[in-house]
Amino acid sequence: MTDEQVFAVKDPVVEGYAPVMAVPPEPATRVAARYRCTACGNLTRFDVTSTRRSRAFHHYTVGGDLEVEDVEILDEQVESVVCHWCGTSDAVVELDAADAAELAAGDD
Ligand SMILES: [Zn+2]
Repeated sequence: MTDEQVFAVKDPVVEGYAPVMAVPPEPATRVAARYRCTACGNLTRFDVTSTRRSRAFHHYTVGGDLEVEDVEILDEQVESVVCHWCGTSDAVVELDAADAAELAAGDD
């Protein structure tokens, strides 16, 4: 009887041809909601009240100074959006993606 061991390890298959997928790059940042006040036309100044649940790495120095890092938003509920100029929330509407893109393209 021999103690011969059989190694059945195969070399990983090397593919000679790896198709390159043409995947468009993801936008780096999440697109934030955009609003419009239909009462005064304001597009840029709003007081947003929201409830946010987040997780973050709290990094203390030995001296007790805190640095908050890697904040991750787990959940966010927007409670109200008030126009900063005329103070109404009733007339504020959220723009849909197409409108927001159009606005962003027209920014100058
Ligand atoms: Zn307004």
